[in-house]
Amino acid sequence: MRHRRGIDLRAPFAPAIHREHDGQQYDTVKSLLEWEVLGGSCGNCGRVAWLDKRVVEREFGNQYLMHLAGKLRCACGNKNGNRILIGTLPR
Ligand SMILES: [Zn+2]
Repeated sequence: MRHRRGIDLRAPFAPAIHREHDGQQYDTVKSLLEWEVLGGSCGNCGRVAWLDKRVVEREFGNQYLMHLAGKLRCACGNKNGNRILIGTLPR
């Protein structure tokens, strides 16, 4: 997933396991744990992208995750119906 100004938000590696944010909890970017990775899946093409939390925080601020989904745009151009994923890195 790329930022609308063309900044690449991708994390350098993908986590092995992940869960989907339910869109209800008021978790913020900063509330994610050290070993958790923020990601998104596209509501249109299903593509999954993993994001660099520090870049996301710098670009969007410490957003609620439920609000972040609407700010991401997939490589296919879709912005609608995107879901937030939370990946867990092996410790
Ligand atoms: Zn897409």
